[in-house]
Amino acid sequence: MKLDIAKLKLCDHCLGRLYGLRGHGLGNEERGRAIRIVYAMENNIDIEELYPEKCELCGGIFERLDDYARYVVEKIKEYEFNTFLIGSKFSEEILKKEKELQEIVGEEGESIGREFNREIGKRVMELTGKEPDLKDPDIAIIIDTRYDDIKLEIKPLLIYGRYRKLVRGIPQTKWPSGKYKESVEEIIAKPVMEMSRGEEHALHGMGREDIDARMLGNGRPFILEIKRPRRRNIDLKEVERRVNLSGKVEIFDLRFAYKDEIVKLKEAEPRKRYRIAINVDAGEDEIRDALKELIGKIKQRTPTRVKHRRADKIRIREVYDAKLVEKKNDMAVIEILAESGTYIKELMHGDDGRTQPNLAEKLGKKVEVKWLDVIEILDSEKLN
Ligand SMILES: [Zn+2]
Repeated sequence: MKLDIAKLKLCDHCLGRLYGLRGHGLGNEERGRAIRIVYAMENNIDIEELYPEKCELCGGIFERLDDYARYVVEKIKEYEFNTFLIGSKFSEEILKKEKELQEIVGEEGESIGREFNREIGKRVMELTGKEPDLKDPDIAIIIDTRYDDIKLEIKPLLIYGRYRKLVRGIPQTKWPSGKYKESVEEIIAKPVMEMSRGEEHALHGMGREDIDARMLGNGRPFILEIKRPRRRNIDLKEVERRVNLSGKVEIFDLRFAYKDEIVKLKEAEPRKRYRIAINVDAGEDEIRDALKELIGKIKQRTPTRVKHRRADKIRIREVYDAKLVEKKNDMAVIEILAESGTYIKELMHGDDGRTQPNLAEKLGKKVEVKWLDVIEILDSEKLN
């Protein structure tokens, strides 16, 4: 032993931990006790003389493991969880002192945080019957031993699904100014917030439709995120039922989701099929011929209507199909299949020539857009 343990004022945990890498199947407390036993026998003294009043490394933290564990269980009892992780913070003074001692021994020790986390973890496991999980716990419990404070990081509840927006005039996400009283997000989140008793919500969509456009057909994939949920095993069928009662938004294909799915959802660039109704003074054949000329690569300068919030630049997009599906008086309904990010209204009226080609210019007539619906999101097809 490089240290004179009679002079060291350490508890068994802190003493044993200095030799934490020596010997297997031993706890640090056992190691510390064993070192003292050997010392007491070698020097023929009473082992009790080798115990200090107070440990000068941990300051008695390891005597209070049971208290910490009970405090943790009290803090987390309002949250439903299956897995947990314990983390901890210690004062600079403790960490510095530990480093000094470990350097003398020769770096065969374990860190105070590791032992503390493991000891608390064992106790919390016993008290709650839940499992520790280092990678993706439902609750991360951070114990700050400097102030005896506990912080909880609750894994958000993520629900994947597809939504249809059956009415116009509703934005996808909560509108900051309050101009729109409700959103697809709020309609979907309402029952989930009640059932999970979470604190906040966010909706991640695979793209978004215009406020005045409906989202029909096979629906748009989304992930609803509920922050700090108190309940996580909620009935998704019941969520679906309650949202669908709104008459404005319909959801289906619900399941629980993982965090990395949000990125995939945001990065997806699926082709989309639209229906758009326009007013134009032109015949059916004229319209059919003009539509054929829109198929292929098109150039779109950032539309006038979104110029104030998006960079003004020219985008190349592809139109795969454009056909007339209905014509009544001056109104024509057109179906368009286009690349992700194509501005469909501008493809019709031209936006003062900012979209090239466009239907208005091909017809040599004024085109007025009446309504627009997204009718299919082709997110399951594989494109090269
Ligand atoms: Zn100690």
